[in-house]
Amino acid sequence: MIYLDNNATTRSTSKVVEATVAYLTDCYFNASTSSAGVTGADRPRLHAAAAMKKLVNAEEPDCFIFTSGATESNNWVLTSLRRCGNLGKVVVSSIEHASVLEPALDLRQWGFDVVETPVDSNGVVRIDQLQQHLTHDCVLVSVMAANNETGAVQPIREIGELIRASCPRALFHTDATQAVGKMSVDLRAGWTEVDLASFSAHKFHGPKGIGGLYMRPGIEIHPMLLGGGQEDGWRSGTTNTPGLAGLAIAAEEAASSNYDAVGRLRDLFEARLKATWPDIHIHSQGVTRLPNTSFFSLPGMAGVEMADALAAEGIIVGTGAACSAGAIRPSRTLQSMGVAHEIATAGLRISLSRFSTLQEIEKLIDTLGALRHSLH
Ligand code: PMP
Repeated sequence: MIYLDNNATTRSTSKVVEATVAYLTDCYFNASTSSAGVTGADRPRLHAAAAMKKLVNAEEPDCFIFTSGATESNNWVLTSLRRCGNLGKVVVSSIEHASVLEPALDLRQWGFDVVETPVDSNGVVRIDQLQQHLTHDCVLVSVMAANNETGAVQPIREIGELIRASCPRALFHTDATQAVGKMSVDLRAGWTEVDLASFSAHKFHGPKGIGGLYMRPGIEIHPMLLGGGQEDGWRSGTTNTPGLAGLAIAAEEAASSNYDAVGRLRDLFEARLKATWPDIHIHSQGVTRLPNTSFFSLPGMAGVEMADALAAEGIIVGTGAACSAGAIRPSRTLQSMGVAHEIATAGLRISLSRFSTLQEIEKLIDTLGALRHSLH
């Protein structure tokens, strides 16, 4: 199997698996009792917080609240507004993941004014448009750090500075799920205005079902999950020690990995695509992207059909489009970028990992060629 859908999820590395298994077998104890220091069950959380602090250069290990992943973290941030007693404007970008967009839109029913701010043809948030929404009644702005489909990196520093200048009391949240572990993230340089950031371990070779929310010191939101009072009362639920043990190793491995080689492989892949099919559209190619991501459309080919045919050949890629009731709905990201329907429905997304090889992309190009010939 050639797996090129790493923005969807990644394989846990062998060290991650090893660390995880230890907390399922030998050290399966409760991390929230007084004996946790004796049993060692408190170690994964401490290790994970220290590793995350280093990976994103946070102020303190205490800035991290661990959750089941980015979906939970994103929902937590948005739904917490219902209890803040302060109705106002919520601004989200038009390319947010559904786990931001849907809870944001739901806030309308609670009396909030929810605004979707647009992106340009490269899928980057339009600063001029965003500026117009940053009024004094703004309570939250949520803009993702890097888009899951195009890989387009958003101007987080610039957006943060604008928020502080225009609506200083608004919280700034970024869904950093695709950025953490794949590009440099520095909460004390560049991202200094970010108050809250969501992440998931399985996007950077950690286990599924574990992730978290970074909360800048001094920032507080209402807890979403109440119960046993774990995570210092921020997020109840028995501590996922195997997940945290895996997350810790994945964060350490990501911190010491270099993505330059991945970027070179992606660029080589795109150069070959262009040389083979001059009519190809490579989305967001003109802007800074995640080094592992390439989202392209071959005109005349349905992306979903191509992805299914590639899967039948043992090559797994993403599409961004979804099928509903027999019709293909193009990706919302491409629609927001103003990409024509027939090009948007042809989208195929390749997302490499640190372990992807030249042989794999060569096989993909050969197979794409054969399929385009037979399906056209
Ligand atoms: N945000 C983004 C940008 C994502 O790509 C994803 C995963 N597709 C999520 C949030 C949700 O992550 P999880 O499924 O790990 O909760």
